[in-house]
Amino acid sequence: MWKAKIITAYPDIFPGVLGHSIIGKALKENIWSLDTINLHDFGCKERNNIDDSPFGGGPGMVIRPDVVEKAVMSVLDDLETKTPLIYMTPSGKSLEQQDLVNFSQKKGIIVLCGRFEGIDSRVIDNLGFEQISIGDYVLSGGEVAAQVLVEGCVRLLPEVLGHSKSVLEESFSENLLEYPQYTRPKVWVDQHGNEHHVPDILISGHHEKIKQWRKNKSAEVTKKYRPDLLQKSKKVRN
Ligand code: SAH
Repeated sequence: MWKAKIITAYPDIFPGVLGHSIIGKALKENIWSLDTINLHDFGCKERNNIDDSPFGGGPGMVIRPDVVEKAVMSVLDDLETKTPLIYMTPSGKSLEQQDLVNFSQKKGIIVLCGRFEGIDSRVIDNLGFEQISIGDYVLSGGEVAAQVLVEGCVRLLPEVLGHSKSVLEESFSENLLEYPQYTRPKVWVDQHGNEHHVPDILISGHHEKIKQWRKNKSAEVTKKYRPDLLQKSKKVRN
């Protein structure tokens, strides 16, 4: 069973999106498991503090290293030492589909969610956390980012998505975005009475031509919205 262990000051945020649809179903079916570890259970004596003001001054609070270390130690026992230890942070490596593939092939992941101004850097370095960002913007906590990461991993587990092919063909495989998708009705009449047809080729039954059309569309969409991905795929081929 693939295991996600989440270290957070706000365990009530979980399972959140992870309790719904195919991901939630897989959770109920024990294809994967979710545990939350409450940082407040490891807070410092009297007032159970998990944070303190930053050395050097500045606004906000920073989560203490001793608190994080104790929380991590409490979960390491029942996991293999190779389990990735991940800290969600805007200063980390940008999360990519290939990272999800890698993490989903492990036995599970341990994810640390920051809050306030973040976590004392010493514990991040000392315990060897991988630092992962979900994008170039700042959220107020790592919990949503952790749910993004875990959802992306779980849907790649072989027992979760019925069609393993659908995983292979979707956006970012081969550094291309996905082609546009259509479903019924064949002719959609919008609220102004305008007709919108599905591209003829998709109802032609010509599998080879459909494949080619999708490939061309993928390239077109990628060129329009993410030309940087095309550069990447050129580099891979060279
Ligand atoms: N002062 C920090 C921001 C802290 S935001 C800085 O300027 O980098 C508080 C917490 O939210 C972080 O510790 C992190 O866990 C989470 N977080 C915010 N934005 C994120 C992002 N883009 N990706 C992943 N985690 C993020």
